[in-house]
Parts: sequence; C-alpha cells; structure tokens
Amino acid sequence: MANTNVLAGWACPKCGQTEGFRIAGTIWLDVTDDGTVPSDEPGRTDHEWDGDSTTECPGCGYVGRQAEFHEDLELEQTIAALKEAPRNVNSETGRRVRGYL
Ligand SMILES: [Zn+2]
Repeated sequence: MANTNVLAGWACPKCGQTEGFRIAGTIWLDVTDDGTVPSDEPGRTDHEWDGDSTTECPGCGYVGRQAEFHEDLELEQTIAALKEAPRNVNSETGRRVRGYL
C-alpha cells in the first residue's frame, strides 16, 4: 500500500522499497564534559533535514541526497535551480543561446 503521510511519494531510487529510510538530520545537542545528549531545552528539541540531507535505504544500503528518494522533490528542486540560473538568452534576438540549458 502506498504511503500517504510523511513518506508519500518516497521510494529508494535503487531498489524501490518504500517502508522506511535513514536520514542524517540536524539536531541541537547539549554538550558537557561527559559527552552529548539531544537537547531538551524548549525550542531546541526539533530536528531538521532537507533535500540535500544524506539519506540511506535500509533495504539495499543505497546512500544519496534525500531528494533522490522523492521523485517530485528532485524535479521541483531542478526546476527551482533552473529558474534561478542566469538566462542564457541573446539580448538582441531573445533566443536561447545554444549549448546551455
Ligand atoms: Zn534501496
């Protein structure tokens, strides 16, 4: 059955499994001389990750950017990058310069 919540649209790009993934996210840590623990300070207990976060498939061991595991997200990021890229258009003709995206 397809995922409909957090993992909606996710799949391993190598083996196709959709059950779960492992992400190297960012969290706040409280550090003392004894070591580190996840912070329980209000406002510092959340964790973050994005399309560039390292993601692992526990099924086959494939590791890549999180966006690779979510086809729509990868496409959205590519489109956003293209929109931000300088337009390679001849200012006189308005036509796209060959050899560029
Ligand atoms: Zn996999």
